[in-house]
Amino acid sequence: MNILILGSGGREHTFAWKIAQSDKVKRLFVAPGNAGTAKTKLASGSTVTNVDIAATDFGAVKELVLRENIEMVVVGPEDPLVKGIHDYFLDDAQLNKVAVIGPQKKAALLEGSKEFAKQFMAMHDIPTAAYQSFTKDQLEAGYGFLETLNAPYVLKADGLAAGKGVLILDDLEEAKTELKNMLVEAKFGDASAKVVIEEFLSGIELSCFVVTDGKNYLTLPMAKDYKRIGEGDTGLNTGGMGAVSPVPFADDAFVKKIDERIIKPTIAGLQEDNLPYKGFVFIGLIKVGDNPYVIEYNVRMGDPETEVVLPRVKTDLVEIFEAVSAGTLNEVDLEVDERAATTVMAVSGGYPEAYRKGKEITGEDAIGESLVFHAGTVLKDGKTVTSGGRVIAVTSYGKDFKEALQKSYRNMEKLDFDGMYYRKDIGFDL
Ligand code: ATP
Repeated sequence: MNILILGSGGREHTFAWKIAQSDKVKRLFVAPGNAGTAKTKLASGSTVTNVDIAATDFGAVKELVLRENIEMVVVGPEDPLVKGIHDYFLDDAQLNKVAVIGPQKKAALLEGSKEFAKQFMAMHDIPTAAYQSFTKDQLEAGYGFLETLNAPYVLKADGLAAGKGVLILDDLEEAKTELKNMLVEAKFGDASAKVVIEEFLSGIELSCFVVTDGKNYLTLPMAKDYKRIGEGDTGLNTGGMGAVSPVPFADDAFVKKIDERIIKPTIAGLQEDNLPYKGFVFIGLIKVGDNPYVIEYNVRMGDPETEVVLPRVKTDLVEIFEAVSAGTLNEVDLEVDERAATTVMAVSGGYPEAYRKGKEITGEDAIGESLVFHAGTVLKDGKTVTSGGRVIAVTSYGKDFKEALQKSYRNMEKLDFDGMYYRKDIGFDL
């Protein structure tokens, strides 16, 4: 079949790499894709086709799908999902036979609205931090709620804010000022017209990924990502600087708790609340003592976690997606590679603040023993150049995550571009 992947990051290159291994795929398109997807080869020997359209330009996506007889669309990022791309396909007589991997709009609110997600968890008894939400008319009540909590204070813009909408503050007065900035001064625009204030949970975070047809589900390998730019988890937040899978502290007993207390009620809740869901659920978890709590839901795979999770999935991804679409995921066995996988992300100097683009990347051809997944790259005059903050990820397998990391670092040294930076301590806390 012909398949289209929407998106342009390391996650989408990893999807392309994995889907390209399936003998079910005839032609594979990525919109807009990157230099890595453009160089990906299918089992048949043909290459992936990048198409320069935005993932949120539904009209252009439709034209492409009809022109190229595309039968499956895999949605990488959250934006098109929150904007309702799955519903757009279902509502169009020419498109409604196309399989779309990603939830419908009202289910995508699990990521699109933090208040919606908290209400969903409360309704279905899913463990999460205690919370209340406020609008600008309720500023005084918001101050009052902050006074009942202990520091640090967690303020979250309700809507999508490109990963920047969460503030964690040590000081009560500062928390009140920021609450006012968010609600009254629209610090995050419309996204902070409502603010969720929640109890601070102290523990260690991990990411759990589930793929579901809305009723049945498969739990993919657990992963842990590293968000801060600086070593020792210091400095500004980024899109993610590296990841490991499996997660050593997520032993069988803990994973069982995640399944019983979180995954099962989440999938049952989707059905009870009539939230149509065919796609990935990313559950951001925190381990407090021996117990898992949900920090957030995302309605797509994580990046860079995808770069370690999919390499550990042996099952044909297209077979999984066909079952997701048909509602027969209960018939698919998930086969997992027992080896550990790690990824290290190289970023442009200056990121996550201002950085330069257009720097030539060299050394990729010298990397044989690791997988190289492109994030912010483009092909220009036959050369691979940087086009984003997060540039390229090096994923490796090993008997444990330490061995895999050594391989990732050994091979990262072969890559070069002007201003290249990467963290040398991924997995330091494990
Ligand atoms: P991202 O883009 O990183 O997914 P987000 O903007 O969607 O983030 P959250 O994941 O809800 O927001 O929060 C961002 C980070 O803030 C979390 O990864 C976690 O480290 C921290 N955090 C959020 N809520 C809490 C909490 N209740 N207690 C402790 N830390 C929290």
